[in-house]
Amino acid sequence: MPELIDSFDRKIEYVRLSVTDRCNLRCFYCLPKGSRSFSPRENCLSDEEIERLITAFADLGVSRVRITGGEPLVRKDLPSLIRRLDRIAGIQDLSLSTNAVLLGDSAGLLKDAGIRRINVSLDTLDPDKFTRLTGGRLAPVLAGLMAAKAAGLSPVKINVLALRGINDDEFVNIAHFCLEHGFTLRFIEAMPVGKGGSRASEHYLDLRRVKDNLAGHFDLVPSVMPGGGPARYVKVRNSPLHIGFITPISRHFCASCNRIRLSADGIIYPCLGQDHQYPLRSLLRTGSSDTALKNAILHAVKHKPLKHEFREKPWQVIRFMSATGG
Ligand code: SAM
Repeated sequence: MPELIDSFDRKIEYVRLSVTDRCNLRCFYCLPKGSRSFSPRENCLSDEEIERLITAFADLGVSRVRITGGEPLVRKDLPSLIRRLDRIAGIQDLSLSTNAVLLGDSAGLLKDAGIRRINVSLDTLDPDKFTRLTGGRLAPVLAGLMAAKAAGLSPVKINVLALRGINDDEFVNIAHFCLEHGFTLRFIEAMPVGKGGSRASEHYLDLRRVKDNLAGHFDLVPSVMPGGGPARYVKVRNSPLHIGFITPISRHFCASCNRIRLSADGIIYPCLGQDHQYPLRSLLRTGSSDTALKNAILHAVKHKPLKHEFREKPWQVIRFMSATGG
């Protein structure tokens, strides 16, 4: 069986699978209030269709799947889809990105279904600021995090989008919160994806500055964490706290990119920062063979661009982050 190697010799073994483009929050940098450009519901892939596609990816060497969105927990009966994916031969790592709003009731179910580790997006611990940034409430998110911890999901990684003038006064506090609860902390640089992304970029913060600032409060030593993603880690000496930095802008990691994205309506996006799209839904729905599906996947991977152009052409990606799957 051919493997997924792109034209720049990168091996693709990781799929970011968006299971819905809907979300129960309206983060200003991702899916701002009033956004209406959702894909029609009938275009959203069914559990069976997703299982078939992920089986094809696994046959081509993909071993990691991260479930994302939109907000994956708003998809009806997500645990049942996860159980299907967990049974696919070759898929060794099933993880989930969530805003945790609905995690309180579902953390245990998700773990039983096959999720081992989760990433939770949380940019502030200030309830009023949380509401201003997201349109939602902080309390259910914190309850969801505690439920994840109680369910034994591990590691729980807290993803903080670093926004100058918005949450940069809270990073030390968030680090203490993570230390107290045994969570891993990661910072992300704002990317100009969609209308929200260009507003986020007005608050762009170079994570080298964030790291330098944290080093004034914690004794940081270089470290690594398993996960297959692009974060570079440090660790607080003599403590379990790992802090990761995801730097798509200040120090991009395209040369080692091992992933592609599959949207909820069945489109492969080989690069988050480019507009190349390879739709698979019609193949799935017109009786195409597994070989035809795999050939379409191979074709999309062959055309994975060398790198994003967030700096050179920040206006280029107009789709919402929530549409591609973060
Ligand atoms: N709803 C899930 C969640 O909250 O994690 C999954 C989808 S969300 C789009 C995934 C990640 O994308 C979040 O951590 C969010 O902070 C990040 N994100 C959204 N817009 C972004 C932007 N313009 N730049 C950088 N990261 C962004």
